[in-house]
Parts: sequence; C-alpha cells; structure tokens
Amino acid sequence: MKPFNDNSYGQFLNEGKIMGTKCKKCGALALPPRPICVACFGNEMEWFEFKGKGKLSAFTSIVVAPPAMAKEGFGRNNPYVVGVVNLEEGVKAVARIVGVDARKPELIKIGTPLQAEFIVKEEGGVKQTILVFHP
Ligand SMILES: [Zn+2]
Repeated sequence: MKPFNDNSYGQFLNEGKIMGTKCKKCGALALPPRPICVACFGNEMEWFEFKGKGKLSAFTSIVVAPPAMAKEGFGRNNPYVVGVVNLEEGVKAVARIVGVDARKPELIKIGTPLQAEFIVKEEGGVKQTILVFHP
C-alpha cells in the first residue's frame, strides 16, 4: 500500500485510478481520501478503488471561473459545468462534467448516468491528472 499523504490521490489519478479511503472500523468510504473517517472518526484507513461510474445528482453551470479555469478560456462566454456525482459505491463526488452543453443547463438531466474520465495536463514538466465525468 502506498503511504497515505496528500499527494497519493493525485499520483493514483496519474495512473488512471480513482482511489479513496475505506474505514477499517466501520467501512465508510471517502473520496477524495481522508485520513480520518467522517462517520466514526476512526483513523485506520485503507485504500479503496472506485469504479468511476455514477449518476448526476446535482450540478451548476459556472460563469465566473476561478483563475485556473479562466486561464483555460472558461468564463462568462464559455461556462463549464460542475456536478455532484452519486457514485455506484454510494459516495458523492464533486467534479467537472464534460460532454454536456454548459450554455444550455436546462438540457442537462439529473440522474444521467456518468462515467469517469481522466484529463491529463502538463505544466512545467509536471504531469497532473484531473478527474472529470462525462455522460
Ligand atoms: Zn469509520
């Protein structure tokens, strides 16, 4: 098992794996990984791989982009969608939703089945993988 630290989640994403934590005491899952269980406050966690399948449970179309997203051209004239995905494992994940029309949020349906996708970015020789979801 990889050591549990703040970088582990990103390293796993680079390998195409969605890793969260599972509490050894009560079995509660968390994504992103957490060192302390949100259910029982236990601190004995193990890695748990999520399949990356789920359903859209809420979303918002974002027109005021944070600096990192604005740099990629997102903003008032090019909004993007962030959603809450109800994963098959029973955990909610918050992530960008791609493959939907952010300009027509009325066409995006709650309950749409979603699949994880990895977007790889490279900046200054550092590889960073971002987890997004698409229908
Ligand atoms: Zn627990």
